[in-house]
Amino acid sequence: MPTSVKAYSATSPTSGLAPTMISRRDLGPRDVAIDIHYAGICHSDIHTVRADWRTPEYPVVPGHEITGVVTAIGSEVEKFTPGARVGVGCFVDSCRECRSCTTGLEQYCSGKGMVSTYGGRGRDGLPTYGGYSGAIVVDERYVLRIPAALRLDVAAPLLCAGITMYSPLRHWGAGPGRNVAIVGLGGLGHLGVKLAAAMGADVTVLSQSLKKMEDGLRMGAHRYFSASDPATFSMLHDEFDLVINTVSANLKMGAYLGIVALDGTLVEIGAPPKPLEIAFGHLAMRRRSLSGSIIGGITETQQMLDFCATHAVMPEIEVIEPEYINDAYDRVLSSDVRYRFVIDAASLRN
Ligand code: NAP
Ligand code: ZN
Ligand code: ZN
Repeated sequence: MPTSVKAYSATSPTSGLAPTMISRRDLGPRDVAIDIHYAGICHSDIHTVRADWRTPEYPVVPGHEITGVVTAIGSEVEKFTPGARVGVGCFVDSCRECRSCTTGLEQYCSGKGMVSTYGGRGRDGLPTYGGYSGAIVVDERYVLRIPAALRLDVAAPLLCAGITMYSPLRHWGAGPGRNVAIVGLGGLGHLGVKLAAAMGADVTVLSQSLKKMEDGLRMGAHRYFSASDPATFSMLHDEFDLVINTVSANLKMGAYLGIVALDGTLVEIGAPPKPLEIAFGHLAMRRRSLSGSIIGGITETQQMLDFCATHAVMPEIEVIEPEYINDAYDRVLSSDVRYRFVIDAASLRN
């Protein structure tokens, strides 16, 4: 018998989030049942619910920054036992056979594609529901171990925001002697600063204003600039080996490509609603690269969690009750978040 679980769902782009009940599947042999303790609020949850990218299949139960505790395991589970502290990120399945899946890049699964933690369709053909709920059932292959040094509330944002920044920083070689700029100091951006600093890179923040400068410098940035001041872009022209753009809105790409050094790379992480506008010269005049990146694979996500535990890279969070989700969404949209909302799911557990 599938289990009935309390959750928060949206039923249309404008409905807001409201309490509901959902069901979770029976444990398969490789499944673990997880009591959800915390779920981070990612800006992608808001894009999805409000149909910024495309119209999702409603109801949507968002949440892909999940931490909790294993309560039961299927007969063939090897990695976890009841009581284990675990996390679930942005996907809960993939084809497991394609070149991406067999090389730890499940997020780029070229088979049937990854199965999103919410808003997707599981192998059983049923819609997937995310972490704004009391419990979830996930195949152990897609479940992460939370190191003892990380609290479950603090760890939650690492499951999306953390890995989304860690993966491109590693891929493009952030480290000593490398000049890295992080654009936008929100949920993703603040972890980008902490991770890049922990990797030993020289870190600069470009934010809409200087309001969060003190925070940015405390998090490990060496320099902090306002992107609203045109002088910033002339001063930083040709400066960075790597620019990671986390902004959720469309920016003037020419200005941001202009601060990339010869042979450097601008990586698009934020998912703005409209296509990017780029002129030939923005790329060609300094042989610059423009790329994008999404989250990270399971092995790399575990590496990132272990790295954060070792280097004390801790998300800065505001823990909220589920009733506050709609207010939290409004505050994220007005860049009024320091630096990630995390839902305490205690009242949603059976
Ligand atoms: P967030 O907490 O809202 O942070 C975004 C930051 O961008 C804001 O704090 C703000 O920073 C800046 N910003 C917002 N609106 C802006 C505007 N109109 N102009 C200039 N700057 C603006 O969001 P998040 O959760 O970090 O997510 C950021 C984006 O990444 C979203 O689009 C999300 O969907 C996407 N995302 C992508 C992936 C991936 O795998 N690629 C994963 C997760 C999320 P300042 O106040 O410092 O300027
Ligand atoms: Zn996310
Ligand atoms: Zn695959």
